[in-house]
Amino acid sequence: MKERYDELIDILNKLSYEYYTLDKPSVSDQEYDRYMQELLMIEEKHPELIRDDSPSSRVGGLVLDEFQKVSHEVPMLSLGNVFNEDELIKFDERIKKEVANPHYVCELKIDGLSVSLTYKNGKLVRGATRGNGIIGEDITANVKTIKSIPLSIPEKIDIEVRGEIYMSKKTFNELNEERALAGLDLFQNPRNAAAGSIRQLDSSVAAKRKLDAFLYHLPEAMKYDIYSHYEALKFMKRLGFVVNKNIKRVNNIGEVIEYINYWTEKRDELEYDIDGIVIKLDDLKMQEKLGFTAKYPKWATAYKFPAKEVLTKLKDIVFTVGRTGQITPNAVLDPVRVCGSTIKRATLHNEDNVISKGFMIGDIVSIRKAGDVIPEVVAPMIERRDGTEKEFKMIDKCPICGTKLVRKEEEADYFCPNINCEARKIEGLIHFVSRGAMNIDGLGERIIEDFYNLGYIKNITDFYKLDSKKEELMELEGFGTKSINNLLKSIEDSKNNSLERLLFALGIRQVGAKTATILSKKFLTLENIMKASYEELKIIHDIGDIIARNIVDYFNEENNLKIINELIKIGVNTKYLGVVTPNKTNENITGKTFVLTGTLENYTRDKLKQILEDMGANVSGSVSKKTDVVIYGEQAGSKYDKAVNLGIEMWNEERLLSELKE
Ligand code: NAD
Repeated sequence: MKERYDELIDILNKLSYEYYTLDKPSVSDQEYDRYMQELLMIEEKHPELIRDDSPSSRVGGLVLDEFQKVSHEVPMLSLGNVFNEDELIKFDERIKKEVANPHYVCELKIDGLSVSLTYKNGKLVRGATRGNGIIGEDITANVKTIKSIPLSIPEKIDIEVRGEIYMSKKTFNELNEERALAGLDLFQNPRNAAAGSIRQLDSSVAAKRKLDAFLYHLPEAMKYDIYSHYEALKFMKRLGFVVNKNIKRVNNIGEVIEYINYWTEKRDELEYDIDGIVIKLDDLKMQEKLGFTAKYPKWATAYKFPAKEVLTKLKDIVFTVGRTGQITPNAVLDPVRVCGSTIKRATLHNEDNVISKGFMIGDIVSIRKAGDVIPEVVAPMIERRDGTEKEFKMIDKCPICGTKLVRKEEEADYFCPNINCEARKIEGLIHFVSRGAMNIDGLGERIIEDFYNLGYIKNITDFYKLDSKKEELMELEGFGTKSINNLLKSIEDSKNNSLERLLFALGIRQVGAKTATILSKKFLTLENIMKASYEELKIIHDIGDIIARNIVDYFNEENNLKIINELIKIGVNTKYLGVVTPNKTNENITGKTFVLTGTLENYTRDKLKQILEDMGANVSGSVSKKTDVVIYGEQAGSKYDKAVNLGIEMWNEERLLSELKE
C-alpha cells in the first residue's frame, strides 16, 4: 500500500507539473482525476501514510521565477469534486448539518484558469494567477489585453474580483489552424491554449490570442454589505464585469440536479468549454461558518461531468464461450468510470474487429458508453505506445474444452463445435430457463453453475428430474422447503409453454425469440419443424439461408434428437398454443411512467421493461418530476436517491410482484 501511495504521489506531481507549469498535459483530466481519487481513498483508509507533500492538500502547481510573484491576501483555493448524484447528495447532507434550508447558486464550470483582479480607486492595478493558492504570478500586462476585463470601473473603490480566463472554441480552432500552417505544435484544448497564452512573457502575444473572462467571485463581499453570493454577482455585473448569464439561484438540491441535467445535455452548444457545474451555498454568513479545508471551501463543490469517452489500459484480451459455442474476445480493462458506471470488461465482438481497430494488449484505449448502452472499446491510442504492448492473437482451440475452433465462411465468429463443451452447456442451461425462453423462476446463473458442477443438471431434461433431488437441494445454501417447492412448481408449469418458447429455449444458432415465433406459427408443432427441409425453411420470410441451415443441422444431430424425445416423454408441450394474452392492464401500471434501478431477483431489467410496456406503461432511463414510480432492487444507484428527494412513489420487488399478480 505504501509503495502504491508513493507511486501515486510521484505520478500526480509529474502530471500537475505538466498541466499547470508547462501547460502541456500528457494524460486526460479523467485519468488525472482517477489517480487523485485512488490517492484520496488510500489516505482515507490509511491516514498514517499521509505525506506533507501530498497533492491532496496542495492547490495548483509550481510558481515559476519568470513572472513576478504576488501573494494573495485571501487564498485562492481549488474546489472539491463530486462525480455523481450520490456524492452531490452527500455534499448537500453535509451542508444541511449546518444550514437548515440551503439555497445554492449553480454556475457553469468554465474550463480555463482562475485569475484575481485587483482594482485600486476604481483602476485595474493587478492581475494574478492562482499559482499555489498563496503565491501567484503577476500577469497584469497580459490581463490588460483581454477586452472583456474593464481597465476601470464606475466606482472609485478598492476591490478584488476573481474569475476564469478562457479561450472560446472558435478562437481555439482558428489558433490551431494558424499554428498548423506555421508548422507549430498544436494546443490540446482551449484550456491549455488559454493557460499558455496568459503566461506569455511578451504581452503582445497574449493580445493576439483573443482571450476572454467571466468573473464569478467577490472575496470580501460583506465589506460591501452584501450577504448573498448571488447578490455579489449582481453587484459585480453593475460594476461592468462580465458575469456568465447562465448562473442560477436554486432552492434545493433537487433543483441543482435539474440544472446539472439540463447543462449535461446542452453543454456542447456553448461557445466555450465547461467541464462541470459549480454549486455554491448562497448565504455568505453561512459560507463563513462552514469555512475551508487546506485545499477548498466547504461551502462549494464542483460536479464534474461524466466523460462520454475515457481512456484506460487494455490489460488483456480473454475469450468466452457462448451457449451456441460462439467465441468472443473480451477486453480486460483497468477499471474506469464512464457515464456513471465502472467498466472492467467490454466485448471486442470478434477477431475482425480487434484486427481492424488494431488493438494491442497493453494499449491505452478509449472507451465510450452512453446511458444504458453497453460499453464500446473505440480505438487504441497509438501515440501512447511505449513498446511493451503485445500483439493480439486469435485462439484456435476452445479455451474450455480444447476442441479446435471452426469459422464458417461468411461468418465473423469462431465456434467451438463440441456440443458437450462445458461452457456451452452451462450457457445453454442458463438460456433454457431464462424469461424469454422456458421462463423458470428461481434459478439464477450461479445456481445453475452450482447444479451443473454438483452433477444435478447435465442437460436440459435434468431440470424436469429435479423433484427427485429434493433432499440434496435442501442442503444447499439459500434453499428451503418453500423455495424448492416454488422452483419445482415453476418447472412443472413450464411444461405447458407454447412451442415458440421451447424452440427458442433449445438454443439453435441464430434462432432468437422472433424467429422461433415465426416458425411456430407456421409449423404449429415441433415435430413439423423437425421434418421441414432446408428448402422449405429457407423461403420463409425472415428466415433465410444461414438460419435454415442451422435449423436443419441442429435436428440432424443425434444427441439433440435424444434430448427432444426425452422432453416429449416428460410431457413438455411441443405445440403452438396461439397468442395467450394475460390480463394486461392494471391502473397502477398502465399509462404510468416507470424508472428501474438496481438488480431485481426475478427479472432482468430488459424483461421487466418489456412486461411493463406490454401493459401500457412507459419506462424511462432517468428520474424526473414526470416519473410516477421508481422500482428498485439491490444496489440501487443514484436514481434511488433522486427519486426519494423528489418524493416519487417507490416500489420494491415484493410490491412489484403483487401489482403484476393483480
Ligand atoms: P478544478 O479545475 O477541479 O476546480 C477549481 C477551479 O475551477 C477553480 O480554481 C476555478 O479556476 C475553476 N472554475 C471555473 N468556473 C468556476 C466557477 N463558476 N466558480 C468557481 N470556480 C470555477 O481544480 P483545479 O485545482 O484547478 O484543477 C484540478 C483539475 O485539473 C483536476 O481535477 C483535473 O481535472 C485537472 N488536471 C489535469 C491534469 C492532467 O494531467 N490532465 C493535471 C492536473 C490537473
